[in-house]
Amino acid sequence: MNKQDLPIAIVGAGAWGLSTALHLANAGYTNITVYERAEKIPSPYSAAWDLNKIVRAEYEDGFYTKLALEAIEGWKTALFGPYFHQTGYVVAATGRAPPKAVKHMEDALATIEKDPIFAPGIRRLDGAGDFKTYTWQYSGPLTGFKGYFNRLAGYAHSSDTLEGIWKHCASIGIKFVLGEEKGKVARLVYTGKKCVGVETADSKTHKADLTICALGAHNAALLPSLGQFVTARSWSVAHVQLSEDEVNLLRGIPTTNIRDLGFFFEPDPKTRLFKLCPLGIGYTNPGPNGVSLPPPERLPPPQDFIPREDELKLRQLLRETFPWMADRPFVDQKLCWFADTADSEFCIDYVPGTDHSAIALSGDSGHGFKMMPIFGKWVKELIESDEQHLQRWRWKNVDLTDQNWGEAVSWRIGKGAELKDLIAAQSKIARARL
Ligand SMILES: Cc1cc2nc3c(=O)[nH]c(=O)nc-3n(C[C@H](O)[C@H](O)[C@H](O)COP(=O)(O)OP(=O)(O)OC[C@H]3O[C@@H](n4cnc5c(N)ncnc54)[C@H](O)[C@@H]3O)c2cc1C
Repeated sequence: MNKQDLPIAIVGAGAWGLSTALHLANAGYTNITVYERAEKIPSPYSAAWDLNKIVRAEYEDGFYTKLALEAIEGWKTALFGPYFHQTGYVVAATGRAPPKAVKHMEDALATIEKDPIFAPGIRRLDGAGDFKTYTWQYSGPLTGFKGYFNRLAGYAHSSDTLEGIWKHCASIGIKFVLGEEKGKVARLVYTGKKCVGVETADSKTHKADLTICALGAHNAALLPSLGQFVTARSWSVAHVQLSEDEVNLLRGIPTTNIRDLGFFFEPDPKTRLFKLCPLGIGYTNPGPNGVSLPPPERLPPPQDFIPREDELKLRQLLRETFPWMADRPFVDQKLCWFADTADSEFCIDYVPGTDHSAIALSGDSGHGFKMMPIFGKWVKELIESDEQHLQRWRWKNVDLTDQNWGEAVSWRIGKGAELKDLIAAQSKIARARL
């Protein structure tokens, strides 16, 4: 049989699983089945189950700047374009920001400031007046704000992207098996060391020549040794419900990222929700073996809250930018789980010891969504070259489970915590309110 007609199983229809399916199908692979535990896409278990994600190309590491630039071109195509909004990107640090936040901002700016592609769209901003020139809607004091505006960036509507790309993939012949019974993969099936397919929760076995694990933060549930260097970590997400007039007031504002507080986006016109995320280290959920995995179920609680400290950060962010919103209730609060690595590098590689029969797509480290238009190309290249040539994207044979590396990541500020401690603190707050 032609290699391109052999059965391929992709587990997980999130940003990277869908992109992989798309690129493989476009390259002529004819026998692709995607297994997804959710009943429909977008899945509530996906890190991209969200209104929006930042699409920007500045990184401390120029390697990712180049890739993100290519991805932005992908966002400007007919397939991805409906979900991409090039509102521009304001990045700043407040007058009280720790030096780490300012350094990260300056290092990232340095990768694009002199680049001829970016340079015409970049302006340094110093003080409230400068920021208000770019975004007249900022009505707060913007105390000590310093940063820049980058025109070549914005956001993508992530839930809509997943849904749109899913429908497109289905229309070009990619098969989808969905649901907690039929679509949820319970384990990988091996003959000797070779992975020969997957077993779903309904105890059915599905054969595949190649199995691609794209479960995001959940990957270590199928590949336990991956959990030694990839940690499931979560960040908080909250929203403010706006009126139609308020949505119109904020239409077109740049995606705004205040490095020591958090970030927000232009409101979503359909739901009238204004999304905010605090910036911090994030939260883990280690099991007895030290491997952090998301709790197995998304809803109901404990995931429908954000920690108090994050709420305070977001209210401070609003007080500085849109004080009229600062005391509004937060709705649709949640912890959103991603697959984190100590060096923020992706893992796109064969699973060691499986004779090239299983691939792990992991380590998005909270910056992988923007790559969705081009991500699958890298998986196709891996399959065609049989080896991951990029050292940085290789599977790592290290066990970091006993090392608390989260706070050392250069672009994160603050202290990390474990989910169980957050839940305990939350219960205390709830009891005090009774
Ligand atoms: C709060 C937050 C903010 C972020 N902001 C940004 C940003 O601004 N810009 C950016 O580029 N990136 C951002 N990210 C990261 C981005 O969301 C991820 O990089 C991206 O979603 C990773 O894609 P993935 O396919 O690896 O995983 P996911 O999108 O999480 O998809 C994993 C899929 O696997 C499925 N699954 C899980 N278990 C099973 C199973 N047993 N069987 C079958 N299916 C299963 C899930 O249902 C899900 O659909 C953010 C992440 C978070 C959490």
